[in-house]
Amino acid sequence: MSKISDTLKKKIRLAAKNRCGYCLLPQSLNPNWLEIEHILPTALGGTNDEENLWLACRLCNGYKGVKVEGFDKITKRRVKIFNPRTQNWAEHFEWDFEKVVGKTACGRVTVEALKLNNEIILPIRKRWITVGWFPPPN
Ligand SMILES: [Zn+2]
Repeated sequence: MSKISDTLKKKIRLAAKNRCGYCLLPQSLNPNWLEIEHILPTALGGTNDEENLWLACRLCNGYKGVKVEGFDKITKRRVKIFNPRTQNWAEHFEWDFEKVVGKTACGRVTVEALKLNNEIILPIRKRWITVGWFPPPN
């Protein structure tokens, strides 16, 4: 598999508006570099091609791992995890103060699978809200 060039990394960062495609954490509030992630994990045949790459924070990327779908308790269906490259964030998620809420089956399974409201980020987002740094503009 071809290596991801620095030029491609820059292109992805720009396309992703320099923020995590899942929890929308902007690079400016993140002490770690946002990571180039594989939408379809390499373990499942995902490639280093541009169409399979996006930007994610360390937590979302870590929790995502090799997951590609989840079970939605409301529709009782297995559905694919949100694809930040081809799907629109605001169609599938909304903010409820510091929490991300799934508006669709896809949104709900993504919130669950990627632990978008994990115990590390919730108190941090809460503080950011009090100083007007969060949620980020769309
Ligand atoms: Zn994230």
